[in-house]
Parts: sequence; C-alpha cells; structure tokens
Amino acid sequence: MMNRNDVLRELKLAPLWRLRRQPATPTPATTSDDGARRARIAALALDALIDDIARCTACALCRTRRMTVPGVGGADAQWMFIGEAPGADEDAQGEPFVGAAGQLLDNMLGALGLERSRDVYIANVLKCRPPNNRTPEPGEALACAPYLDRQIDLVAPRLIVALGRSAASRLLGSDAPVSSLRNRVHRYRDTPLIVTYHPAYLLRTPADKAKAWEDLLFARRTLRELATRPATG
Ligand code: URA
Repeated sequence: MMNRNDVLRELKLAPLWRLRRQPATPTPATTSDDGARRARIAALALDALIDDIARCTACALCRTRRMTVPGVGGADAQWMFIGEAPGADEDAQGEPFVGAAGQLLDNMLGALGLERSRDVYIANVLKCRPPNNRTPEPGEALACAPYLDRQIDLVAPRLIVALGRSAASRLLGSDAPVSSLRNRVHRYRDTPLIVTYHPAYLLRTPADKAKAWEDLLFARRTLRELATRPATG
C-alpha cells in the first residue's frame, strides 16, 4: 500500500515547502443583481436551487449550454471549493470538475483524505459553460452570483477555497493575480477563504503543483485552528 509520501510523489506534489504566517485581511465582495430575483433565490432550498439553475435564462450562456452544472458534494461539508465555469466534460455530464482538471483536483483531495461526494462541496462561479471555455464575463458572473451565494449559505462551509483567478475575483472583488492572494486568510462575507491555483493551470504549469499543495495544507491547518478556537459573540 502507498504511504502519504508515495502519493505526493505520484502526484508530483513533493517536495513540500514551509509556510510563512500572514495576517488575515478580510476583503468584502461586492455584487449587485436584480433585487427580486436575488431575494427569491436566497429563499430556495438546495433541491429547488438546482431546479432553478436548470431553468435559468439570466444570461446568454443558456442558449449554448447542454447541461447546467450546479455543484456536487456533501450538503453540510466543511470545505467548499469554487472553480471558474464548466468545461466540455462538465457541460456534457452536469457535474463540476469531471475532466482532466477534475482528476487532478480529486487526487489532491484524496491526498488530504477528502472525498468529493462527502467531505467537500464543489461549485463554480458560473453554472453554464462559456463557449470555447473562454473566461467568464463580469455580467455572467453577476447573473450567477445569487446561485453561488445561496449555495454558500446553504452548505455553510467552515472554509472556502477559491480555485484560480475567476473565483478569487468574484469572491474578493480583486483582480490581483493568484500568486499575490495566496498564503492569507481572506473572508467572503463571514466565511474564511483561501486562494490557490486552478487545477487546469496546474496541468499547464506542473512546477506550481507544490505551491498548490502548500496552499491546501495551509487551508487544512486553518480549518483545524478554526475548530479549536472558542466561539465569540
Ligand atoms: N474548470 C472549472 O473551473 N470548473 C469545472 O467544473 C471544470 C473545469
């Protein structure tokens, strides 16, 4: 049987680096949307939310999608991973991160002892595939914002991991590169948030896999520290 170091080597995630501690810098996100639609979505339960997403026509992506891709995982998971948007595989299957990038994400989750269907909830900024996998446009992210916000409210994760620049930009309202947002605990509304590289970027830039692994260890340590911290207020 492979031990943890073997797994990390197999994933090309070794060697691991030590982290510097950095202060938390909460950053409020700003979104705006039609108030009535937002209020209606904010009252939906998870099943109703998934149905609503399947019928959504709030932006032009509804004309080119095959399937909507709401999210997958434990409805009360402690971890929430947020990516950018469905690609071709996700558009065909209706589930996030099922292609090559998803395989890498699953391997990284596995190395942390996390199972996608139980321990984490995985969602995207957009629930529909942008044509040719282009980067989401701001208007599309805004139209989808009430869905992602409701997913975060319903799952109520203890920690969010933003995968890549689109997720970080949507949740932190910052267009800074991922490299400058790593190694810090941000906040989305009241939830601690850590930024790391998108798995598709890691497939193109394997040299940065070790940094992504470092980020996940930082996330796990942060989660453990949160669990032992006495409640305030
Ligand atoms: N990339 C993403 O950001 N999300 C997916 O679901 C798949 C690939």
